[in-house]
Amino acid sequence: MSEGATKKEEKPRKFQAIRGTRDLLPPETALWNRVEQTAHQVFATFGFGEIRLPAVETLGLFARSLGAETDIVGKEMFLLAEREPSVVVHPGRFGPPPQSEQDRRDEVPPVFSEPSMRESVERQIAESVLVLRPEATASVCRAYIEHNMQQMPQPVKLYYMGPMFRRERPQKGRYRQFYQIGAEVLGGSDAPAIDAEVIEMVMTFFDRLELQGIQLDINSIGDRNCRPKYVELLRAELLKVKDKLGADSQRRIETNPLRVLDSKLESEQPVIAKLPRIADHLCEDCKTHYAEVKRQLDLRGVKYHENWRLVRGLDYYMRTTFEITAQGLGSQNAVCGGGRYDGLVELLGGPPTKGIGFAIGEDRLILSLQESGKAPAQQGRDVYIAWMGERAQATGIRAAKDLRKAGFSVELPSVEQKFGKALGQADKLGAKYALILGDNEVSEGLWTLKTLADGSQAKCTEPDLLEYLRKQRALSP
Ligand code: AMP
Repeated sequence: MSEGATKKEEKPRKFQAIRGTRDLLPPETALWNRVEQTAHQVFATFGFGEIRLPAVETLGLFARSLGAETDIVGKEMFLLAEREPSVVVHPGRFGPPPQSEQDRRDEVPPVFSEPSMRESVERQIAESVLVLRPEATASVCRAYIEHNMQQMPQPVKLYYMGPMFRRERPQKGRYRQFYQIGAEVLGGSDAPAIDAEVIEMVMTFFDRLELQGIQLDINSIGDRNCRPKYVELLRAELLKVKDKLGADSQRRIETNPLRVLDSKLESEQPVIAKLPRIADHLCEDCKTHYAEVKRQLDLRGVKYHENWRLVRGLDYYMRTTFEITAQGLGSQNAVCGGGRYDGLVELLGGPPTKGIGFAIGEDRLILSLQESGKAPAQQGRDVYIAWMGERAQATGIRAAKDLRKAGFSVELPSVEQKFGKALGQADKLGAKYALILGDNEVSEGLWTLKTLADGSQAKCTEPDLLEYLRKQRALSP
C-alpha cells in the first residue's frame, strides 16, 4: 500500500500547543499590545532605546553568565537538536557523537580524565550547542561587547521585550515560553541615582498601567569585598541549625547559602528570622551606596520596603537588588526582578563595565491586570456596514475605505445579507453603529446610520457621516 493510501485511512491527528506554551488570542492580545505600547512610550521618556535580540544563542553564553550549576542552565534550558550534530547532547552530559553503529552500541559516557582536556571539550560544546534563550540580560551584554558600545556615550540605556524559554513545571503564572520586558543600563558610573532612576522607570510604567497592589522590595547584597565574609558567616550559622532545615536548604548551605534566605518553607521561617542580616555586614562603600539609593528613591517619591532576604545567587550581582510583587497572582506573585551586576560584561569577555537592569514577567503583569479588571472588554467595531445590492456594495467598499482612513474600525460583510440578519451580526460583534446601504440610500446619496445602543436612526450624507462619527469619538472617554 502506498504511503498516501495509509494516510487516508487514518484520522488526521489534532495538534496542540506543547506543554507550558499557549496561544494568546484576541481580545486578550489587545491588552498585550497596550502593555507593550506603554512600555515603548514610558521607556523612551527615560531615554532608553529598544534592542531586538535573537531568541537563539549559544549554550556557552548562559553557562558563563548564569553559571553551569544553576537550575536554569543545568535543567531548564531548551537545547536545539541539529540535523547533523557535531556533538550529541545527552541528558545531564555532553559528548562527541558516535561515529558508527558499533560506536553507538559501545558508547560509554566519555571520561575526560585530564581537566584541561575536559575544559576544552566543554568549551567547544558550549560554543556549538544552540539554545533558546532563558533570559536576555546575557544577550544584551553580548551585544554591548559585540558592537563596541563602550565607544558610545555612556551609559548605554537599552530595553527589550520578547519570549524567553525555560523548562519549568508549568502552573498559573509560570510557563515554558513566557514573555519578558526588560531594560539594562550599561557603562558609565555606578551612581546610586542610576539604580533609583531604573526603579522609578519600572514603577512609572506600572503606575501608567494602573497595576494594583504593587510592592517594591529592595536590598543591598554587598560586593566582592564584603559579601564573601557575610556568606561565610551565614554558612557557619546555618551549619549550627542544619537539622532544623529541609533537604534543599541543607544542600544549599554548601552550594549557595544565600539562597536559603529565599526559602518559603513554613518550618524554616523561625530559623531564618534569626540569621545574621547582610545590612549589618556591608562594607563602608556598600553602606554609603545603599543609603544613597534609598535617598534617591525618596527624592523621586518611590515607596519601598527593605527586605534583607532578597538575594541573588550569582556572584556578579552586587549591591542593589529589587523585586516587585503584584496582587492576584497567588504564589507566583513576582512581576519584576532586578539588580546591579557590575561584573557581568567582564565575565563575558568585555571591558570592566557597570551594569544594572530588570526583567518584568509580562504574562504575570497581564494576569494581574486582568484579575483587577483592568483588561479591555472585547474589542467591538465602530461601524458595521449592512449593504444590499451590487451598487450598495460598491458604495460600502468606498465608505469602508474612508472610515478606516479616518481610524474607525469597520466590518464590511463579504456577502449580501438581509438587513435583519446584518443588524443581528452587528450586535454580536459589538458594533456601535450600523451603516445601512440599500438601493434608496445609494440613489438618494442619503445614508442611514443606526445607533445600536438605543436603536435610533438618522439620515446623513457621506461628509456628514464622517463628521458626526469624529465628533462622537472625541466625546467618548
Ligand atoms: P528572572 O529572569 O528569573 O529574574 O525573572 C524575572 C521575572 O520574569 C519574574 O519576576 C517573573 O515575573 C518572570 N518569570 C520568570 N520565569 C517565568 C516563567 N517560567 N513564567 C512566567 N514568568 C516568569
